[in-house]
Amino acid sequence: MRKPLMRIPYTDILPSPTIIPASAHSLQGALAALHNFFAAPPPNQLPHSTVVLTGAGLSVASGLADYRGPNGTYRVNKTYRPIYYNEFVQNHEARKRYWARSFLGWSSLLKAKPNSGHYAIRDLGELGLISAVITQNVDSFHPRAHPRIPSLELHGYLRSTKCTTCHTEYSREEFQHHLARLNPRWAALLEEALASGALDTEDPDEKKFRGLKVNPDGDVDLPDAPYTTFRYPPCPRCLTDPPIKTEGYRHTVRADSDGAWLLPSSAGVLKPNVVMFGENIPTHVRTAAEDAIDNAGRLLVLGTSLATYSAWRLAKRAKERGMPIAIVNMGGVRGEDQFFIDVDPNQAGELAVRVEVSTDDLLPTLVSQLRQRLASGSLPNDAPFPNDPRENSSVFKDMLS
Ligand SMILES: [Zn+2]
Repeated sequence: MRKPLMRIPYTDILPSPTIIPASAHSLQGALAALHNFFAAPPPNQLPHSTVVLTGAGLSVASGLADYRGPNGTYRVNKTYRPIYYNEFVQNHEARKRYWARSFLGWSSLLKAKPNSGHYAIRDLGELGLISAVITQNVDSFHPRAHPRIPSLELHGYLRSTKCTTCHTEYSREEFQHHLARLNPRWAALLEEALASGALDTEDPDEKKFRGLKVNPDGDVDLPDAPYTTFRYPPCPRCLTDPPIKTEGYRHTVRADSDGAWLLPSSAGVLKPNVVMFGENIPTHVRTAAEDAIDNAGRLLVLGTSLATYSAWRLAKRAKERGMPIAIVNMGGVRGEDQFFIDVDPNQAGELAVRVEVSTDDLLPTLVSQLRQRLASGSLPNDAPFPNDPRENSSVFKDMLS
């Protein structure tokens, strides 16, 4: 297979963070700093609402691997690399391999659930503290855990497939049934793996022992698998009515007698509805994410090293707007010094927070403390928290389908 020229950003270990404020080394100190972060009015008459930016670290407690954490995919599996968009679109063999691995990984992803970190975000929203969530995660946990807070899925979502020609969206769950029908031997292998508990175990060593590893993209590594026999269906719409290519010529879309996509088809390829490496984020998603930053007064970054440029530039945008930034992440964050370089060393969290605590430990306790303080009035009454976190939802009208 052709080796892509693109480099996966920041798979090396990032430098350890400087904890801000210095008192936030302990859990209690981190909680106090975040309390100050939410309680103080943002500077320069910025709005009182907070926008949250999340990454794979938030889903680790749901049993999914992250990319760059201590047990992250890039660290544990040195040869791992995600599929590239051009490879997927241009190469039938690459698609077979992708869908075979995705077929095996899907049931684990389907069973995984949002964790206490996601539900704490829901609760922060109900307290009126959060206006929107921007996530890099494709696991759909945010919209599931807090349907009333707008979730902007920067890199798409695995719950759908999308036709690369006509852009029709289909259910990934239904697609799974088609894959099982077209690949009975793989379906048997999957059933066996499920029955043995190899895909169920939460223990990474156990998974490794059984030769399986579920990656954050919802796929599974299976060394030496005969990927080339795997079959996948075409877009039903393009198969029935092949789209026009140019000047009246129609695309060719063919399927075998069982309904599997066949060469020389030139269209009707279904893709997971996620933004792959080398693929651009759709303009309306990018704009909505920028609007979410621009409509908020603070940025809370959870479980991400911001290694992906699309996420990093949103944090940079928040910084340029003078928004206080709090980062909760295990391990370093790309260029984080820039976010905190001009912060008053005597501030106690109201302008900047950097802590290294796992989100599922920190966030539920933060919620219960903030609840108590709101009830006792120790969060300032003159801080007009937005009454309804959905106020800004028109920004996300394209995203909430
Ligand atoms: Zn189509």
